[in-house]
This record gives sequence, C-alpha cells and structure tokens, in this order.
Amino acid sequence: METIASVLVPVAVPKAYTYKVPPGQSVVPGTIVRVPLGPREVVGAVWDIEPDAAINPKKLKSITRVYDQTPPLDEDLRRFVDWVANWTLGAPGMVLRMVLRSEEALESEPPVPGVRRVEGAEPERQTSARRRVLETMEDGFAWTRSGLARAAGVSPSVIDGLIQQNVLEVVSMPAAPPPPKPQLDYARKKLTDAQEAVAAGLVSTFEKGTGVTLIDGVTGSGKTEVYFEAIAEALRRERQALVLLPEIALTEQFLRRYEQRFGVYPAEWHSEITPKNRARVWRGVASGDVRVVIGARSSLFLPFRELGLIIVDEEHDAAFKQDDRVPYSARDMAVVRGHISGFPVVLASATPSVESHVNAEIGRYTLYELPERASGAALPDLQAIDMRLDGPERGRWLAPRLVHAIKDTFAAGDQSLLFLNRRGYAPLTLCRTCGHRFQCAHCSAWLVEHRFQKRLVCHHCGHFEPVPDNCPSCQSANSLVACGPGVERVAEEVSDLFPQARTLVLSSDLPGGPERLKREMKIVEEGGADIIIGTQLVAKGHNFPKMKLVGVIDADLGLAHGDPRAAEKTFQLLAQVTGRAGRVTGGGRGLLQTYNADHPVIKGLLSGDKHAFYQAEIEARRVAGLPPFGRLAAVVVSGPDKIFAEGYARALARAAPPDEAVTLLGPAEAALAMVRGRHRYRLLTMAPRQFDLQSYLRRWLNQGPKPTKGLRVQIDIDPQHF
Ligand code: ADP
Ligand code: ZN
Ligand code: ZN
Repeated sequence: METIASVLVPVAVPKAYTYKVPPGQSVVPGTIVRVPLGPREVVGAVWDIEPDAAINPKKLKSITRVYDQTPPLDEDLRRFVDWVANWTLGAPGMVLRMVLRSEEALESEPPVPGVRRVEGAEPERQTSARRRVLETMEDGFAWTRSGLARAAGVSPSVIDGLIQQNVLEVVSMPAAPPPPKPQLDYARKKLTDAQEAVAAGLVSTFEKGTGVTLIDGVTGSGKTEVYFEAIAEALRRERQALVLLPEIALTEQFLRRYEQRFGVYPAEWHSEITPKNRARVWRGVASGDVRVVIGARSSLFLPFRELGLIIVDEEHDAAFKQDDRVPYSARDMAVVRGHISGFPVVLASATPSVESHVNAEIGRYTLYELPERASGAALPDLQAIDMRLDGPERGRWLAPRLVHAIKDTFAAGDQSLLFLNRRGYAPLTLCRTCGHRFQCAHCSAWLVEHRFQKRLVCHHCGHFEPVPDNCPSCQSANSLVACGPGVERVAEEVSDLFPQARTLVLSSDLPGGPERLKREMKIVEEGGADIIIGTQLVAKGHNFPKMKLVGVIDADLGLAHGDPRAAEKTFQLLAQVTGRAGRVTGGGRGLLQTYNADHPVIKGLLSGDKHAFYQAEIEARRVAGLPPFGRLAAVVVSGPDKIFAEGYARALARAAPPDEAVTLLGPAEAALAMVRGRHRYRLLTMAPRQFDLQSYLRRWLNQGPKPTKGLRVQIDIDPQHF
C-alpha cells in the first residue's frame, strides 16, 4: 500500500491537499516538497493534518520532489503558521508562502550541479537573453541553472543552449563556508547605570523563558546598546536572535553598529536582498549557521532552527503592519511566536504604541523606562511657530523664524533637518484657467508632481505620466499651477535662501533606489550635508550626530485625517523626528510650524510631558471602546464594477449574524474608494476586548453570500485605520 500525506500548498485555499508519497521516499510533518497543482508545480510542506484516505488512490497525484537535504519546518513554526492563519482568517497556505520565500534556497540544496562560465568562450550568436546571462555571471561564481535563469530573467533553455555551445560548463557547487560567529565580548560599551539596570532585567527574562518586555526610552537613551545585551545572552544560550526594524533604510546603520559590538555582520533579510543572498540566509537560518538576523517584518517567518529572542525596534511603527495578502501585525505576531516557542520578546520605542502602553500598565508586559539620553545630552527644546501669526509670505513655506534658525545652525557648522511627510513637488496640480485637476485613472487620488523626474505620479498604484505643456482639458498653455508643498518644493526654497549650503533631499522615491538612499544616509551621518529635507523616512531611529535643528514644515498634516489613531500617530512621528536633534551633544532644537498651536498633540510635544498625552489618549480610547479596549476588524469588499461591489457589500452586511456584542458599521466607501481600478467598500465590526471576533467573522462569511467572480473579500484584523 502506498503512503499518503497532507500537503499545505501556497495558495488561498482553506485546506491541505492529499498526495501520494513516492515509493522509497519518506516524509514527516514539516518536510518541504514539490507537488503538482493544476497545470503547474508548487513548493509546499507536509502538514500534520490527517490525509484524506477516502480519495481513490488512482486519482491522487504524487509528490514530485522531496527536499530531503533541507530540515523539515519544526513543530513550533507549523503551529505559528496555523496560529497566524487562524488569527488573520487567512489561508494557512498563504501564510506558509511567507515561510517558503526563497525557492532558490531549496533549489540550491546540496549536492547540486551548478554552471560556470568557461573562460574566454563566447556564444556563437549574441542575443539579449544570452547577454543578460553572461552579465549576471560577471561575479565569476558558479550558479545553479534555475537560480541563474531567475536572476538573469531568462528561461532555463537559454542556459541549456549556452551549455551546449560550451560557453557554460557544469560543475558541482561548493558548499559555502558558514559565516563567522558573533563574538560576545568583542566591544561592549560601558553602559550607564540606567542602561545597566534594564540590560540586567532583559537578561533575567531568559530565566523565566517566555515574556514580553517593553523598553520605553527617549530618543538617544541607548536602547540599542541595551538590547544588544539581550542578543548576547541569547547567543550565550546557543539560541538565534532576530531584530525586526520597520524600515530598510535603517538597516545599514544598524549593521555597522552591530558589527562594532559583535565583530561580525549579522545576516540581513528584506525585499531588497538579492536572490542569492536570500538563499544563503534562508539556508543558514534553517541550519543554524546564521545566528542573528536583522530584517523587515517578513523575517518573522524564517525557518529558524533555534530561535531564542525577538526584538522589535520602533515597535509603534505602522510599517510593521502588512496590509495586503495576509494582513498581519509583525509586532503582535512576534509576541505570538515568542509565546509559542517560549522565548523572550523585547519591544523598544521612544513613543510606544497605545496598545503596548496599556499592556504594560495592566502588567501583561514588563516595562522599563529610560527617561534620559545615554550621552547625558538634554532632549531638544521644542517650540511652535504659529503660522496664523508668524507664517511666511504667500508661495513660501518656511516661516521667518525657521529660516533664521536654519541660518544660525548653518553658521555654526551644524545640520538642519526639514521634515515634511509629502513626497514630490506638490500634492496637487491644477489648471489656473479651467480648474482641471490631475487625477489617477485607476485610483481615487490626485497625481503628485515630481519635478526631478518631470512626472505626475500616483502614490497608490505607481501610475505616472509626463507633465504636459498644455492643460489636457482646456488646452491653455502655461496654465498649470502646483498647489501646496512637497519635499522637492521645500528643497527649492532652501536652495534659493541658502545657495552656499549643501542641500540633500531624502525621500524613498528618488531615482537610484535603496542603494542611493543608503549612501545618502551615510553622508548625513558623517556630516556631509548641511540642510536635509526629508519625508518620514528620516524620522525613524537614525543617529545623525551633527544634527542640531529639526524644522517641521506642517505639524498639522497627520491630524487632518478623520482617523481616531491620528493623534497617536502624529505624536509619535513628531516626537521621533524632533528627537533627531542634538542626540549626542545636546543643544538640539525643534520648531513646529502649525495652525493649531492649541491642539493636544502639539501641546503634549511642547510640554515634554509624554505621559500626560498618553494618559489622555488612553482614556479617550477607553471611553470610546476603541483598541486596545475594544476589538476591530474591517471587511473590505472590492471589485472592478462599482455598483456590483457596493451591492455585494450591502448583501453581506444584511447577512451579518445578529449579536449584541458586535457593532457593525457600513458599508461605506473605503478611504481610498478606488485603487488599481478596483472599487472598495468597507464594513467595520467592533466588539468588546474578550469577544471572539474571529469566530464571529468566520460564521458570518460562511453563511453570507459568496463573492462571485471579480469580487474579493479581505479581512483586516486590527486595521491601522478605523
Ligand atoms: P536609542 O536606540 O535609544 O535611540 P542609541 O542606542 O542609538 O539610542 O544610542 C544613542 C547614542 O548614544 C548612540 O550614538 C550611542 O552610540 C550612544 N550611546 C548609547 N549608550 C552609550 C553608552 N553607554 N556610552 C556611550 N555612548 C552611548
Ligand atoms: Zn485647463
Ligand atoms: Zn493610481
């Protein structure tokens, strides 16, 4: 009799499929396998679900490959995948897909033949595909056939052709040597007493096993140095450690600091690493050769062999929430992963989320505070500039007091940062003659002018078009005007005012990509720029020793949202960005341009009484039954046809099982009513904290009308926006 197994496949179906195990092969739960699925083959994993023995064995397809050189996904990771699927109401296979992110890692299973360039050999006839292959091979290394095809973006037959022509030769791939191990006592900074106390606390949590610690420490308080000690402790206990950062742009500086502390670089994991590195890290994590990973939220799903610590730095950051496919919060899921496997989790921030604050208050998390900077430097002196009274002249964006402060800072040889959370030149372009506004054809959003690139760009779907000479509606020439400022426009004003200063715009969308950004961050860090104009990218975690002044161009920007989280988010962002000033040497200043100087967020920032702000915010949430005192889930219906999508959303709302505990709002058009040509309607459910909202939603969606072709229903548990 043949054996059969359940295999979870990386597609959005609610269950696992049953396959035959090829004769002579054996699998256990967690074994990674390749299986046929419809017309294609996919990589999945054997799952601990009873296979369906009732299916006629003749109808069963067979596993086509068993990756027996790769360790099976362990029980903890499998339970984590199930947990995330259950929590997000996502398909377990879609969560598994986040684990199996590196097909290269599997395809490079040793022993594996590779290909190498034969020195001096050229193809008989050069084609662009062949050229791409040879260019990809310029590093001189051997590649796997499939890895090379993917990296060069060609079909594997191109590579076979080059092998036939003896331009490439087949070799066996050498096993890569394991990366060097971190040295625990390479260079430990002498910690301050306050840091020492927190470090000791973190180290002691390993005795208890599981547990979450929140480090609430002001910007520059030395949180990083402190949690390095937790990493050292995990390593001492022969466990692996993971540090989650919200922003790829932050990793470069972090890697260097880590190297200074431990004498080697940690492994990196995020969307920008090359397929080859991805494979190396994935395999190293699974084999245990890689001890420490620093990465984006997706690294939470790496198949660690013996993970023993997760640190979530800047834990309040919204970037930890993934919004598409499987919407999940990496911060919350890090806590879950620690709980399942029984290891400590550390959350760190200068402005913790209201959720984590409350968890600390009720004793669910252990709280440590670092109220002072490690260097002893004072926190920046913050002041508001009331734009109603002291604003700039029309068409200018910098108030005279801010200009003055920049001048002084520049004269003293220090750096200024001007912060505006708006990419591009101007948020809106319109025709002065007829009032025409440029809107994205696929989204309900204005097109944003990017003057460096001479384009109008949609920030939601990436659509762009050239800036026309004439108005497309009334054909007037020279009638287009830019309304409002973006970073590029502020940079223009700065260059006008300070032609001698070295000015730099830091924004995620400038040509040159992440590599350029990394270089520019380094330039700022080393003092190679005088005035920096940046988006929220510069707000996060960076250490810029020469930065003395932070000017916030529009402190009210985030408050304009009708979102109850707006106050918290704005407070965090502005505290973070002004916290860049005077981090090491003190003497920092922050100037906030605002039309709402009396707003609680602005007042909370200026008074420096963070606790008062948080207490008021927490109280307001408690009264309104908002998170973390109540639970929320959004149900987003989308489809290409507006009327159809709306009709379905209404039918779904009518089918909601009545339950006193649940409040149902909507359907309403989503804040972004159309994205990429899909019309979106949103239903919001609210329930008390103890209520099992997931079961309720499952019941609802099971008995409600099924989405027909073209319609999509997505559940977002704990949505960022309510
Ligand atoms: P945070 O993560 O809280 O923002 P960092 O760990 O980045 O703070 O520290 C801020 C600055 O202070 C860094 O330049 C860091 O090197 C320095 N620093 C931190 N702890 C110490 C210490 N004990 N002795 C000397 N310098 C320190
Ligand atoms: Zn016009
Ligand atoms: Zn668009």
